[in-house]
Amino acid sequence: MADDGFHVYDTTLRDGAQQEGLNLTVADKLAVARHLDALGIGFIEGGWPGANPKDTEFFRRARTELDLKHAQLAAFGATRRAGVKAADDPLVAALRESGAPIVTLVAKSHDRHVELALRTTLEENLAMIRDTVSHLRAEGQRVFLDAEHFFDGYKSNPSYALEVLRTAAEAGASVIALCDTNGGMLPDELTDVVHDAVGTGARIGIHCHDDTGCAVANTLAAVAAGATHVQGCANGYGERSGNANLFTVVANLQLKKGFDLVPAQSLGDMTRIAHAITEVTNVTPNSHQPYVGTSAFAHKAGLHASAIKVDPNLYQHIDPAEVGNDMRMLVSDMAGRASVELKGRELGYRLTSDQSRELVDRVKDLESRGHTFEAADASFELLLRDTVSGERKRHFSVESWRVIVERRPAGDIVSEATVKLHAKGERIVATGEGNGPVNALDKAVRLALEQLYPELAVVQLIDFKVRILEGTLGTDAVTRVLITSSDATGDWATVGVDENIIEASWQALEQAVTYGLLRAGHTV
Ligand SMILES: [Zn+2]
Repeated sequence: MADDGFHVYDTTLRDGAQQEGLNLTVADKLAVARHLDALGIGFIEGGWPGANPKDTEFFRRARTELDLKHAQLAAFGATRRAGVKAADDPLVAALRESGAPIVTLVAKSHDRHVELALRTTLEENLAMIRDTVSHLRAEGQRVFLDAEHFFDGYKSNPSYALEVLRTAAEAGASVIALCDTNGGMLPDELTDVVHDAVGTGARIGIHCHDDTGCAVANTLAAVAAGATHVQGCANGYGERSGNANLFTVVANLQLKKGFDLVPAQSLGDMTRIAHAITEVTNVTPNSHQPYVGTSAFAHKAGLHASAIKVDPNLYQHIDPAEVGNDMRMLVSDMAGRASVELKGRELGYRLTSDQSRELVDRVKDLESRGHTFEAADASFELLLRDTVSGERKRHFSVESWRVIVERRPAGDIVSEATVKLHAKGERIVATGEGNGPVNALDKAVRLALEQLYPELAVVQLIDFKVRILEGTLGTDAVTRVLITSSDATGDWATVGVDENIIEASWQALEQAVTYGLLRAGHTV
């Protein structure tokens, strides 16, 4: 159970789910909740029972299907309607019956919103807050209050905005989260307002949106001004520009400010958890995301690499392992010998200086012809292995391949590929059909090799990118193909370049399969 020190409160399942294009099923929400719990988050807002049938079901299923180790669930909902008793309001009843130990009530704190959106008096709004908070408290639930549009409300009518806080606290709300609902605040002005709010004696929390690009900065500023409860969303999900990224907030507070928010071991799992959540939400991970992005600790410049080799801490703000991330050296034609050696070491190879010189020459030569190793780690590793062993070692060799593309009378287009391979002393001929030539080639190669290497069944082609590169110095344009493949434990990328798109695809595919076999433990 979360102790009642500093609160970390996640609202991914309610506010984060407002993100354009994000659509979570109840099973997805349960999965996200489990990941957040594994991270050691104290509070998880599950949604709005009563107002949204999916959320009602979430709370129902959570009772039997969620075994939370750290987090407590919060049900979100509004204060009672004007002119009725909280005890008689069906939406308040849904909160009471959700089974959640905590109810987070959203309340108006902006005088104009009370009058224009709620269409009631300022006095009745305070009565709605008082009545709903005390009713739920009397029924045994803990109550947090989200003061909606608080900062804009404070600008419009500061004494009324502060009165909302006092009223909620007196009625028994244990935290009042100040919401920058429109996301327009900047850290310096926000600090002054939070300071005044803390002055009321109520326990203050903070809920920021990222419309100024300052959601995390605003959250940290609020904490510095006395807030002891932070709200945010996994990976910064949320409508418009998103909510405060809870992972960034937690890492900043814990690693830079000495707060003890989540177990160190869980923080070391943050990168994995952030990515696992993107698998559930089906939102492409932001590779530049602070702390947990795949590029968050990636270095490119050759000049830096020689110093990084001596002391990596000179070029990174924390040890990436603290959040479960890794320093990565990007290999590109900017890179010199030092970064190639470093990359080799990262991959577990010790290169002699002759070997690293040879490898740099090969990288430079291939990149000048359109390859990119920065985006194709697996191709680089194969090149490195070939350089170290002095020969090109593969699990299979190719005699030939052929692809035909046919438009059938009904208008559908099918591709058929035939590959002739040699592996483990056998000659194998296999044919695959697919919706496109690369898909057909992929199927044919698997069909040919799966008998000998059953592990290939779990290898999937998950992304395929094609780019036409302009020809230089009178040469023709070439096509670059990047293929991303995955197995149960991770993914890898390979590159192929040729004037012919299918040959470029074949090169990338052949390396993808080779690398997949190496990952499965098949040495050559
Ligand atoms: Zn919000």
